[in-house]
Amino acid sequence: MRVRIDQGLCTGDGLCEQIAPAMFVLADDGLSYIKEGDRVYNDVQGGDGVVVVPTSFEDAVVEASQECPGECIFVTTD
Ligand code: SF4
Repeated sequence: MRVRIDQGLCTGDGLCEQIAPAMFVLADDGLSYIKEGDRVYNDVQGGDGVVVVPTSFEDAVVEASQECPGECIFVTTD
C-alpha cells in the first residue's frame, strides 16, 4: 500500500494526524504531509510524496483517507 496527499486540497484540519499520527503530520504551513519516522515528505513537486505504508499502519491510513474532509489522501494498493 502507498499513500500520498494532494496538499492543494488539504483543509488543514489535522484529522489525519489525529487518526494516524505515525503517518501524517500537520506542518507549520498549515498543510498535512506524509511522514516516515523523522522524515517528512514535503517535497510534493518532486513527486516523492508517495510513501509505502507499513502494514501495521494500513488500517489507520485507510480510515484517515475515508475521513479526510478534503478527500485528498490517496491510497493505492500494489
Ligand atoms: S485529513 Fe485531509 S484535509 Fe485534513 S489535514 Fe489531513 S490531509 Fe488535510
